[in-house]
Parts: sequence; C-alpha cells; structure tokens
Amino acid sequence: MRKKIIAGNWKMYKTAPEALELVAALKKEIGGVTAVDVVVCPPFVHLGAVVDNCRASSIAVGAQNIYWEDAGAFTGEVSGPMLASVGVKYVIIGHSERRQFFGETNETVNKRTRAALKNGLKPIVCVGENLAERESGRTFDVIRDHVTGSLAGLTKEDMLRIVLAYEPVWAIGTGKTASAAQAQEVHKFIREILLKMFDKATADATRIQYGGSVKPENIAELVAQPDIDGALVGGASLKADSFAALVRNSMN
Ligand code: PEP
Repeated sequence: MRKKIIAGNWKMYKTAPEALELVAALKKEIGGVTAVDVVVCPPFVHLGAVVDNCRASSIAVGAQNIYWEDAGAFTGEVSGPMLASVGVKYVIIGHSERRQFFGETNETVNKRTRAALKNGLKPIVCVGENLAERESGRTFDVIRDHVTGSLAGLTKEDMLRIVLAYEPVWAIGTGKTASAAQAQEVHKFIREILLKMFDKATADATRIQYGGSVKPENIAELVAQPDIDGALVGGASLKADSFAALVRNSMN
C-alpha cells in the first residue's frame, strides 16, 4: 500500500513574514496529519525558518531545486549538504518551469537526483508533456523520454526514496486539470516503464503524484485512481485554507 503524498510548491511566492504566516496557519489546520505525507516547498531563503516552524508538526519541508556539486565556485547555487543541514527532507527536481525557463534537461535532472540521494534527501522528480506534444500525439514518447532519462542508472534502492510527479505542462497554473482518466492513463504508463527499468516490486512501490491545477474540489477523484498517489500542488498551496482542505479531501 503506497502512502499518499501531498506537496505544496510555493514557487517564487511569499516574503518571509508571509511564509511564516502561512506555515503557522497550516500547522494549526493540518499539523497533526499522518494519514498522508504533507510537504511544503518554499523558496530557498525561507527553508531554515519554515523547517524551524514545522518542527512540532508532521509537515515536512522540501526545496524547489538543488545543484549537483556539494560545494564550490558556483555562484547562486544551493547544494545538497546545505539543504540537508537546515533540515530539508525533500527536493523538487525538473519542474516544467525549470525545464522551460532554466534549461533543465533529463541529464541535469538525473545529476540533481543523484545529488539529492547522496545527501539523504528525497527527490520529487517531475515529468510531463506540453500542449503541442499532447496535441501531436507524442505524450507517451515524451513521458518515456523524461522517465528513462531522468532515472537513468539509478538502482531499485534509489527508487525507494524517489517520488515521481506527472505534471502535464498544459495543466499547470492554467485551471485546466487533466481528467482523472487522462491522468490515470499516464500514471499507469509510468508504472509500466518502471517495471521495465527496474522490477514489479519497484514499480508497485513508487509513489507517483499528479500535478496541474489540483484543488480541494478535484483531489478526491484524482487520488481515487489506482495509480495516483497524491499531488504536487502550486496555486492551491499558497493559502492555508485551500491547502488544508486539499490535504483533508485526499484522505477521504
Ligand atoms: C506546480 O507548480 O507544480 C503546479 C502543479 O501548479 P498548479 O497547481 O498551480 O497548476
């Protein structure tokens, strides 16, 4: 039985006081939830403060990126040892916004994933097709390419600590959610790829989140699908009431 995981990607939102206000409200609302794993992923500058403020709760904290070297002359980058040292547990890797705007490729996603694992962090590895790719019937080719490229050379043991997130780019921040059936079709396909790359036990054990305009109103139908194990949430994670409702509705 895979435990569901709901992660909030705050993207480049929230000043320091706003981040603390959101986390205080989340702690009050869902700080004791253990039936699903709850993760919040603030911008780098707030990680230490959010970790400190989540201590007496079940909410874990994730980063939104990681560099693959541990230390060095890489101005502007943040490394695995740095993230681990402030108590971060997860890291989002290869989000479509990073693939689209910051030159992220399967190869760099793979390097970042290895760096996260080496430093005891749990990678949330994102894959997903854009609108042109879906409309030209290339969804499955793109997903195969993202999954095999991003996870190339990793072991079954590595996979025990990795979460995948299927995020169709056309559904991110657009209000257009993939239907539960559309999402399930791709999640099932991802599990078949994992079966070929690793084995049945690994494919069955890997958690695959859905992401793309997930809200309190549609989470229940999504997680009712056999291969959808939670959600990576952008917009609806920025307000305590909507994220808390979404977490609660994922448990029903
Ligand atoms: C995301 O940022 O990963 C995301 C899915 O955003 P939204 O929920 O706003 O579509």
